[in-house]
Amino acid sequence: MSDETKQTPKIIEQLRRERELLDEILNHSADVIFAFDREGNVTVWSAPAERVTGVSKSDAWGRPLANIPPFFALTGGEASYQRILAGDSLRLPERRYFIPAFGVEAVLDVFLTPLRDASGGVEGGLGIIHDITRYKRAEEALTASEARLREANTVLAHEAMHDALTGLPNRRAMERRMEAEWRRTARHDRELSLLMIDIDHFKAYNDHYGHLQGDECLRRVAEALQRNLGRPADTVARYGGEEFLALLPETPLEGARQLAETMHQAVARLSIPHETSPVAPYVTISIGVSASRPRHSSPDTVRKRADQALYQAKEKGRNRVEVAKTK
Ligand code: GH3
Ligand code: MG
Ligand code: MG
Repeated sequence: MSDETKQTPKIIEQLRRERELLDEILNHSADVIFAFDREGNVTVWSAPAERVTGVSKSDAWGRPLANIPPFFALTGGEASYQRILAGDSLRLPERRYFIPAFGVEAVLDVFLTPLRDASGGVEGGLGIIHDITRYKRAEEALTASEARLREANTVLAHEAMHDALTGLPNRRAMERRMEAEWRRTARHDRELSLLMIDIDHFKAYNDHYGHLQGDECLRRVAEALQRNLGRPADTVARYGGEEFLALLPETPLEGARQLAETMHQAVARLSIPHETSPVAPYVTISIGVSASRPRHSSPDTVRKRADQALYQAKEKGRNRVEVAKTK
């Protein structure tokens, strides 16, 4: 026997093994695996290809892919096959595909690549379709829970900086804003004003009308103060129980006093009945005004002076605006 003849059974055995390996892969892989010749006729059809298309291996074999319309469309149709025959590999954008046998829509990843003969010419193509539905669902769930988390964080961040009753910035927010504004105003050597605002005889209001109506009164006063702020940079915060603080950047004392008068009138005009107030038959506020050039002062000082002016307003009979003496 020549060497060549001795080799033949070995090669046949090798081919048989490779064929068996391929069959095992085709039968047991979870992917749709298929191949086709230059004419687009099916030459390989894995078990999942049968399940996904509803076309059996024996029916598929030799049949033009174009004759299995939904599957043909899934793989990108004529355009895809032209590209494969031209020698390109392609991964299609993920596709949604209804699988009748399972009654579900799957998300599929479609990969197509040319198969070449010994001389390198394209003799057909191979397609591998991977079901990424679960992965996709997990990804969507993750995205959704991330969005919920972001939303919860936004709510928390808002809650940390706002007063729940009135919706105004709270004391902490005001302290932060004050620090930032203080530095900015000092840099430009401008003036900044504060209004310390307090509801008159509010204990008596609560005692007479009850705490719930007290809360409602606070909300309405807060809203009136907020509504009457003059400029976008102006801020009013709920500073304590029935006490509010307005920060007016780049505003000199006279401008601040005018705004305080406006706020004072706005609250009076709400005409919230206050039978037990010795000052007026409706809810009133007192306001202390102070102004400062941050380069020559400190936040504490200007706040203290607004507080002293408020105290003066209370001393003089409440229901009024009092301006801090300039030092
Ligand atoms: P003055 O004119 O001197 O400011 O007198 P006042 O009674 O307003 O001042 P005081 O500080 O004695 O009382 C403030 C009252 O504000 C006490 C409390 O019952 C009420 N108060 C504080 N926070 C709240 C709140 O969140 N809701 C309600 N309903 N009342 C509040
Ligand atoms: Mg008060
Ligand atoms: Mg008070």
